[in-house]
Amino acid sequence: MLRSVLFVWGMLLALSSAVLQAEPERRFQAQQGMLNLAGWSAAQPLTLAGEWRFAWQQLSDGSGSHDWPLFIMPSTWDDGGRAGYQYPGQGFATFVLDIQGLDPDIQWALFVPEIATAFRLLINGHEVLLGGQVADSVTDFKPYRGHRWVKLQPADDGQARLVLQVANFRSHSGGPWQPVLLGSEEQITHRFGHHIIYEAVVMLLLLLIGLLLLLEHAVDHKDRTGLWLGLFTLMLAIRLGTTSYAPLYWMLHIDPPWVLHMRVIYISMMLSPVVLFAWLHSAFSRDFSQRSRNRFSLPFLLSSGLCLVLPPSGFTALLWLFGGLLFLAVALSCWVLLRALFLGRRGAWLILPGTLLLGAAVVHDVLLNHQMLSGQYWSPLGFLIFIVSMICNFLLNRVWARQEIVRLSEQLQQVNRELEQRVTERTQALAEKADALQNANQQLRVLADVDGLTGLLNRRALLTQLNTLRQWQGSVAVLLIDLDHFKHINDGFSHAAGDAVLAAFGALLRRLGRDRDRLARLGGEEFAVLLLDCDAAGAEIFAARLQQQLRQLEIAGWPQIRNLTASVGIAVANLVDVDGEALLNAADHAMYEVKHSTRDGYKIASGYSGRE
Ligand code: GH3
Ligand code: MG
Ligand code: MG
Repeated sequence: MLRSVLFVWGMLLALSSAVLQAEPERRFQAQQGMLNLAGWSAAQPLTLAGEWRFAWQQLSDGSGSHDWPLFIMPSTWDDGGRAGYQYPGQGFATFVLDIQGLDPDIQWALFVPEIATAFRLLINGHEVLLGGQVADSVTDFKPYRGHRWVKLQPADDGQARLVLQVANFRSHSGGPWQPVLLGSEEQITHRFGHHIIYEAVVMLLLLLIGLLLLLEHAVDHKDRTGLWLGLFTLMLAIRLGTTSYAPLYWMLHIDPPWVLHMRVIYISMMLSPVVLFAWLHSAFSRDFSQRSRNRFSLPFLLSSGLCLVLPPSGFTALLWLFGGLLFLAVALSCWVLLRALFLGRRGAWLILPGTLLLGAAVVHDVLLNHQMLSGQYWSPLGFLIFIVSMICNFLLNRVWARQEIVRLSEQLQQVNRELEQRVTERTQALAEKADALQNANQQLRVLADVDGLTGLLNRRALLTQLNTLRQWQGSVAVLLIDLDHFKHINDGFSHAAGDAVLAAFGALLRRLGRDRDRLARLGGEEFAVLLLDCDAAGAEIFAARLQQQLRQLEIAGWPQIRNLTASVGIAVANLVDVDGEALLNAADHAMYEVKHSTRDGYKIASGYSGRE
C-alpha cells in the first residue's frame, strides 16, 4: 500500500521536474520595460513576464512611458510583496512593454489570459483587443471573463509596443494575474484549441460520469454513496466547465453576466467539500461520522451563503479564507482516507492515489499561477483521475456487496433445500405412522366389535346394530340361543372342547344365516341371531333348521361330542315401534321358558310374535 503511494508521489516528482526542465528560456524576460528577442528560437510560446512599465490611475496610450516605474508581470497590483508596489485592489492602470527583434516573416499572435477584470490592448498605437470595458469610473466600466487571443503585427523594423490598459471596480483584486504569451499564430491558436478541447473532453466525461451515478442512485435508493459521488462529480464538471477556457459556456454558446459567473464558480467551489464530506461519510461511515460531516460542512455552507448574498468585491475579498478552508478540507479528506487505508477498509487503497494526485495537481496549478512553474494546468486531469479512482472504489464496493448477496442467497437456498428435505422426510414418517395408527385403530375397532372365538359380533356390536336398524321398515326376528348343558362339555371333556363347540356353532350359524342377517355371541354359550324382513313363521323355520343341524354338528377333534341341543327364544317385531334391547329381553325370556321346561326347543315370546 505504502509502496503504491510512494510510487504515485515519485511519478509526480518526476513529472514536476520534467516540467521545470522544460521551463522556457528564462533569459528572454522583459527588463526595464523592454524585451529583445534576438536569438530566440520561437520554438515555444514565450511568457511575457518580467519588468513592464506601469502607470497607476492612468489609461494612457503609452507615450512617455520610459519614465514610468516598473511592474513585475504578471501580478495583481494589490500584491505589493511581489511587484514592489502596493495599490488598492480596485482602480485602473496602464502597462507598457516594448518588444524588439520580432521576425517579420512569422505570423505572430498573443494569448491574453483572463485579466481582473477588464482590459484594452493596443499594439503600436492600434487597439487590437477588448475584454469588457476599461474606464476610470465604475459607471462606465464593464468586467469580462475568459481567455482571448489576437494577431500581432510588428512594425517593419520588427518592433511592437504593447500597451495594456486594465481596470477593476468589481473584484477584490485587480490586474493581470496570469502571463500574456507570445508565439506564432499557429502555436497560439493551436494552444487555444488544444486547451479548450482538452478541458471540454474532461468536463464532458465528468458530466457523463456524474449523471450515470445519479441515474444509478435513482435505480437503487438505499445506498447514498452513488448520489454524493455523482453530485461531487457534477460539481467538479461545473467548476471545470466555467473556469479557465470555460468549455461549458463555449459549448452552450453562452456568455453569462460576470457577477453570475463569479457566483457560480465560487459557490461550486465552496459546496464541493460539503458533497465530498457527505460522500466520505457514506463510504467510510466508521471513520467519518455523521456528526463530523455536519460539523465540517457548516463553514462551507456558510461560505456558499456569503458568495450568494455578498457583492463580488465582498466575496472575492474572502478568497484567502476560502482557500484556507479548501486546504483544510483536502487535508481532512486525506486524513480520513489514510485512516481508512490504515484500518484496512475495503477499497480505500483505490482512492488514496487519486486523492494524492488531485492534491498534487492543485499544488502544481497554484505554483503555475504564481509563475513558479510553467506548462499546462493539471487540475482537469487531477479531477478526472480522482473521480475515476473514487468510482473504481464505488464500483468495487458494489461488486463486493453483490458477491456477498449472491453468497448469502446461495447459503439461504442451501438451508432451504435442507429444510425442505427434512420436512419431506418428517412428513413421510408421520404419514407412515398415521397409516399404522389407522390400521391399528381399524383392528381395534374390529376387535371391539367381534368375538374372538367365533368371529361373530359381540353383545355390544349387536346392540349397536339394533340401534342403527331403528328405521328398518320391515319386521325383524330376534332368536336368542343358549346351548343346553354346556357345562357338561367343559366338565366332561375339557375347556378346549367347549371352545371347539362354541367355534363350530358359530360356523353353523354363519352357514345358516343370510348375508344381511346379524349373528352374535352374547357371552358364554349364549348366541343371538337377528333376521331382517323375517316374520314369526320364518323365525320358527330358522330355529327348527338350526336345532336339526346342531344335533348333527360334528366337532373337529372331538368326535365323541354329538347330539348337541339348544334352547331358543324368539321375538318378532317392527323396530320402528319397539326398542331393540326390549326385543332382545323378550327373546331372552322366551328362551328361559324353554330352558325351564323341556330345553331343546324354541318358543316365540308372547306379545312379540309380530303377528299383532
Ligand atoms: P343350561 O342347560 O341350564 O343352559 O346349563 P348350562 O351348563 O349350559 O349353563 P350354565 O350357565 O350352568 O353353564 C355355562 C357354562 O359355560 C359355564 C362356563 O364355565 C361355561 N363357559 C362360559 N364361557 C365359556 C367359554 O368361552 N369356553 C368354555 N369352554 N366354556 C365357557
Ligand atoms: Mg347359559
Ligand atoms: Mg346353557
